[in-house]
Amino acid sequence: MRGQMMEQELLISNIIDHAARYHGDTKIVSVNCDGSQHRSNYAEIQKRSKQIGSALIKLGMKHSDRIGTLAWNNHRHLELYYGISGMGMVCHTVNPRLFPEQMVYIISHAEDRAVFFDQTFLPLVEGIRENCPGVEHWVLMEARSEEMAKGRDWLSFYEDLIASGDADAEWPQFDEREASSLCYTSGTTGNPKGVIYSHRSTLLHAMMSATPDVMGFSARDCLLPVVPMFHVNAWGSPYAAALAGSKMVMPGPGLDGESLAKLFNDEKVTIAAGVPTIWAGLIQYLEASNTKLPHMNRTVIGGSACPPSMIDKFRDDYGVEVLHAWGMTEMSPLGTVNHLKNKHFELNEAEQKDIRLGQGRPPFGMELAIFDDEMNRLPNDGETQGNLYCRGPWVLDEYFLAEQGTTLEDGWFHTGDVATLDEDGFMIIRDRSKDIIKSGGEWISTVELENIAVAHPALSGAAAIAARHEKWDERPVIIAVKAEGQNVSEADILSYFEDKIAKWQIPDKVIFVESLPLGATGKILKKELREEYGDCLIG
Ligand code: ADP
Repeated sequence: MRGQMMEQELLISNIIDHAARYHGDTKIVSVNCDGSQHRSNYAEIQKRSKQIGSALIKLGMKHSDRIGTLAWNNHRHLELYYGISGMGMVCHTVNPRLFPEQMVYIISHAEDRAVFFDQTFLPLVEGIRENCPGVEHWVLMEARSEEMAKGRDWLSFYEDLIASGDADAEWPQFDEREASSLCYTSGTTGNPKGVIYSHRSTLLHAMMSATPDVMGFSARDCLLPVVPMFHVNAWGSPYAAALAGSKMVMPGPGLDGESLAKLFNDEKVTIAAGVPTIWAGLIQYLEASNTKLPHMNRTVIGGSACPPSMIDKFRDDYGVEVLHAWGMTEMSPLGTVNHLKNKHFELNEAEQKDIRLGQGRPPFGMELAIFDDEMNRLPNDGETQGNLYCRGPWVLDEYFLAEQGTTLEDGWFHTGDVATLDEDGFMIIRDRSKDIIKSGGEWISTVELENIAVAHPALSGAAAIAARHEKWDERPVIIAVKAEGQNVSEADILSYFEDKIAKWQIPDKVIFVESLPLGATGKILKKELREEYGDCLIG
């Protein structure tokens, strides 16, 4: 039909152009690998992203070629996010916490032609380099150093490469459905699987992320993403913050409580985002040093269930509102965020708090449903639990180069989570289907048991696992870490569960350990715990 809107593709380059045009002097603070700080702004990030992107094209990289990064959250990584995708290549973020064999697998599977890496990861790169023959360029994200270059003729330097690029280069225009970035799942079973995001999916996800009922980024905010840019694009926050014009603080390698608290307060950070294990470390530091967070007003917590005790502590002791969020690599990652609705203001404080404990509800663009094992749709009554499925424009259709083709079932993506949904879409994750405990035909949620255990003041961490049982098939066992200086007994912990859950759900045993094994994305590796302690109730 004639007389319509302009045609403009939704490209990642549009985001950084907008940020440079209207928020050019908005600061980007970045912590380098040696702890020093680098300060720039959106105008400079845009110039340098054009420069590094065009330098890659000069080097012979072609449209859709994959370019790897092994890097912390810092300004050069941000330049690469925009430069690689903006120039039409695919930014493949590699998680440096994976096992070296997994890194070799994904760099080879993705056919990365160049890999950019931070100085921290030089030993790692030296270990895997010879097993990645497809990589033509290994680029250290630093200025040239003769000391580093000595004896390493395979090494190039970011600041040398960027100098060969053109800060006035034009961004190419192409179909918004083309690939922009690539991230592999951590692959707790089998090889990691690649998830390709498109320019369109990234922009739709970023635009929705910035809305008030999701992360609500604005030009008045200062964002510190603790969640790494090397996994699921730091939850898309470097795109969403730039399109809103938020100031950004990139923490580099210093993710301990003390370094984070200093950055939060020095840079007047208003919003942060990260997984619960990171925040547990921060809270320990804040308590021990009696430090407050006068500028931060909210933080997004997801990746695994945020314990209610953490939500309470942030609110009551620090005035920080926790936005509990749920998502997956396959979903860019945002699925739900917890915000109340207008009608909830009629409820009393305790009832409102109760609603805030779950993982929240989906924004526009995300649809959720629960099904039973035979794909019968289950009711959204807030009680019936079932296999959680989702669909939407930023949800995966098929894994990168997967042999089996689409992963969808009846057009829905199977998340592998077990959840309840209420009629407003408020979701509560009961468990990963692989982790849930099946005791005598009834299900026990490990998330619920852990939420209770970690609220015990003498524990600093806890995981609930299914242990094999002769009579009940499986029974819950708690693997717990004592807080520093605490001496607590198994009986103390078990009695703490009384009156909080049904008697038959109370764990059979507590095993104290020095630390819990964490995976590449900061989640507790329950599979490892089951392998080690799964038979502790037998014989
Ligand atoms: P990985 O980082 O291990 O590759 P993802 O980041 O894709 O995996 O993890 C997705 C899974 O993490 C979800 O399917 C869910 O089980 C879990 N998860 C994420 N956020 C939450 C949350 N807020 N509460 C409970 N579980 C969560």
